[in-house]
Amino acid sequence: MTSIKFSSRSYTTLRRHLLASNVEEVAIAYSEFRSRTHSEFFVREIELMAESDFERRSEFHVSLTDDALARVIKRAWDLKLSIVELHSHVDTAIACFSPSDIAGLRDLVPHVWWRLRGAPYAAMVVTSAEIDALAWTASADRAEPVDEIVAGKTLVRPSGRTLQRLEDPHDRTF
Ligand SMILES: [Zn+2]
Repeated sequence: MTSIKFSSRSYTTLRRHLLASNVEEVAIAYSEFRSRTHSEFFVREIELMAESDFERRSEFHVSLTDDALARVIKRAWDLKLSIVELHSHVDTAIACFSPSDIAGLRDLVPHVWWRLRGAPYAAMVVTSAEIDALAWTASADRAEPVDEIVAGKTLVRPSGRTLQRLEDPHDRTF
């Protein structure tokens, strides 16, 4: 079982940023990863990404510039923390990573694992109504489910839609 845990204040700040406009927004949550009986990402510091950090931003996908990505990786390395990336989908209430999100993560996660010497990674997609989240704790090549998002005392269950689609042999979306 895997959880991502925020303070209620960080979570509120992140949601406000991510859902503030009618375009996709991005944020980074630098997190302490612990794994005992189950795996937990404890969010320690958040960074709200700015327009100048984006290489391009479309309806379906947003990617960071090389400079912004290098800055984020360096910050995680200096803090000895894992990266949890968050981005919003603003055209839908349903939370599911897009095919281009998944293609991007297939390149990005092994790169970050290599740069951060195997630090686990997680990604969240946020809409006004739902969240979906994936984690890479055992391997950089296989996305695992995130079972719960905890914000202060509030528990949110990820939709699980992305892995359902990835594992459905009849779904050709990905
Ligand atoms: Zn997306």
